[in-house]
Amino acid sequence: MPRDLTHEVEPIFGERWCYHVRSRSGHQAYRVDLEAFEGNGQCDCLHFETRFKPILSRGIARDWLRCYHILRARGLVLNAIIASSNRSPTFGQMLSKIVRLVWEETVNKWKGKHEDAEDRSLVR
Ligand SMILES: [Zn+2]
Repeated sequence: MPRDLTHEVEPIFGERWCYHVRSRSGHQAYRVDLEAFEGNGQCDCLHFETRFKPILSRGIARDWLRCYHILRARGLVLNAIIASSNRSPTFGQMLSKIVRLVWEETVNKWKGKHEDAEDRSLVR
């Protein structure tokens, strides 16, 4: 049976976006920092250290470079955001707007890069 996220993930007091996340077996806890690597997140588990960190350290940021523990911490944060936005409609609207603005910014940045590449290829 899947465990409740609040039993698996615990915020680290005084450390912004940092969490202790239990291993799947429940015998160990790992430290996750969700802001590291430009928001990809970082974990001190062996899987992250050996497979994802070397790629991220080369400056390659991708959405799939996250271990189970990072995904669980992100899940807890998202649940908390949605729960708090349900409590206050104004706050919920504001959060929803922020998500849309960040999405638009990211899409436009991507389009900008893509169009630059197209312009360069036309020059050749
Ligand atoms: Zn991990």
